[in-house]
Parts: sequence; C-alpha cells; structure tokens
Amino acid sequence: MGIYALTGGATGIGAELKRQLRQANHEVISVDIREGDIVADLATAEGRQRAVQGIRDRAPQGLDGYIPCAGLPPVAKPLSLIPRVNYFAAVETVAGLRELLALKRGTALIVASNSAPMVGNDDPYVQACLAGDETGACTNIEGRDGHSAYAGSKRALVLWMRRNVVAYAAAGVRLNAVAPGITRTPLSEQVMADAELGEAMKQFAGMVPWGGTAEPAQIASVMRFMLSPEAGFVCGSVFFVDGGSDAMLRSDSF
Ligand code: NAD
Repeated sequence: MGIYALTGGATGIGAELKRQLRQANHEVISVDIREGDIVADLATAEGRQRAVQGIRDRAPQGLDGYIPCAGLPPVAKPLSLIPRVNYFAAVETVAGLRELLALKRGTALIVASNSAPMVGNDDPYVQACLAGDETGACTNIEGRDGHSAYAGSKRALVLWMRRNVVAYAAAGVRLNAVAPGITRTPLSEQVMADAELGEAMKQFAGMVPWGGTAEPAQIASVMRFMLSPEAGFVCGSVFFVDGGSDAMLRSDSF
C-alpha cells in the first residue's frame, strides 16, 4: 500500500480524503494547524519547514503522493493570510517534497478551485505570487477584496503547476490540480454566513448546472483516483469537479 502526505487534514475535503485513503489501507501523514501527525501553521516559514521536515522524517523511503489541501476562504482576515496559506505554503511544500516524491515516482495534487479562471493571468497579485514575491503579493492584496485574494491565489497555483509540469516530470513527479466547485465544508459555511459574500455564493450555488453543492466525498473520490496508479498518465491536468459551472461560465474555453 502507498504512503501519502496531505495538509488541511483536520476538516472538510482534506479530512475526507485522509479517511478514504486510510480506508483503502494507505498510510497518510496529516498536517494541520489544529491537529494531526504534524501540527504546523503553514502561513509561516517555520511552519512550512516543520511540515516538510516532519514528512521527511516519517517517510524516509519516499512518498507516493502529496496533497497541499489546506486553504483559507475569501472571508479570512487579514487578506494576506490567503496568499500565504493557499499559494505560498502549497508551492513551497511541494518543492520541499519533490525529491521525496521522486523516490517513488509519486504525484503532487494541487487543490485549486473553479474560481481560479475568474482572475486574469496578468493581475499584479497573481504575478507577484508567480514571481515568488510573498511580501509583494500580501501588500497588493491587502487593499483589495476577498474574492480576488482567493480566486487569484488559486489562479496562481494552477499556473505554477502548469509551468512546472515538464521539470517535475523529468524529475519523476506527476503534477495535477483538482478544481472543486462549492463543497459543503467549514470553509464554504463561513462564506455562506458572510454578510458581504454569502448572498452571492448562494446565488451561484443556485445556478450550478448539475444542481447545488458537492459533498466532500464527491471531491475526495476524484482526488483519490488522480493520485492512484490508474491515473498514471494524467499529468498537467486541471480536473474541474464543479457540477458544470466552469463549462457554464466559459463554454468556449478548455
Ligand atoms: P476546511 O476549512 O474544511 O479545511 C481547511 C483546512 O486547512 C482546515 O483543516 C484548517 O485547519 C487548515 N488550515 C487553515 N489554515 C491553516 C494554516 N495556516 N496552517 C495549516 N493548516 C491550515 O476547507 P475545505 O473546504 O475542505 O478546503 C480544502 C481545500 O479545498 C482548500 O484549499 C480550499 O481552498 C479548496 N476548495 C474548497 C471549496 C469549497 O467550496 N469548500 C471549493 C474549491 C476549493
């Protein structure tokens, strides 16, 4: 059986993926700010280092997969926490675990969002993320809105993944991203309850072609497939699991 590491394993999609992987007899190393095998605040450089070192210590023979699933919603405050956790923690930990993944020809699965295409590639916040400029990205987003902070962090994540596919494949690591739509978790509950963003999110949920919102199991089961040997030739893909909402909004793009 395989050995996987993930962040954000305490609740929501990460907790459900951890449960499914363990149920399939895989070993799972869980990192989270609240509880888990490794407790670390991924908003900080020290927390990211603790996470990477802790995973290395627990899986010296290599990893079959790594899923940087921890994420903060558009209502997180201060807004600079969003790029810190959603983007910088994800890419730094994937990079820090690259050799460990390569030992087993493993895979890293980025957790994006169907909101990622809603911010442009040329947005200065997205560009600051891609340039590795954490201070610049945080400064840029502080004066803006939660939706741009969240969707922009996911846009940057997808672009980072696509730009790194060739180099990671050459090193023996398969990169992909999953892009969930609205999923019933503590994260989406926080947004639904927000005075500013809640109404817009409920309206959006009402427009989803396949209807409503996803359960975490519906996202985690697709992720589990993408991590598995059955998906061994899936590389560089962005898999929307969103009830058709991205196709509805961008019918002529793929
Ligand atoms: P969630 O709030 O249930 O889980 C997020 C997890 O991240 C929590 O366990 C939390 O403790 C952890 N976390 C937050 N900040 C952290 C930090 N600084 N350090 C370490 N851990 C931290 O949310 P979820 O909905 O399960 O989200 C999981 C991923 O899915 C996120 O990346 C999110 O952006 C993405 N996503 C969610 C939805 C949705 O509608 N729920 C849609 C698209 C994408």
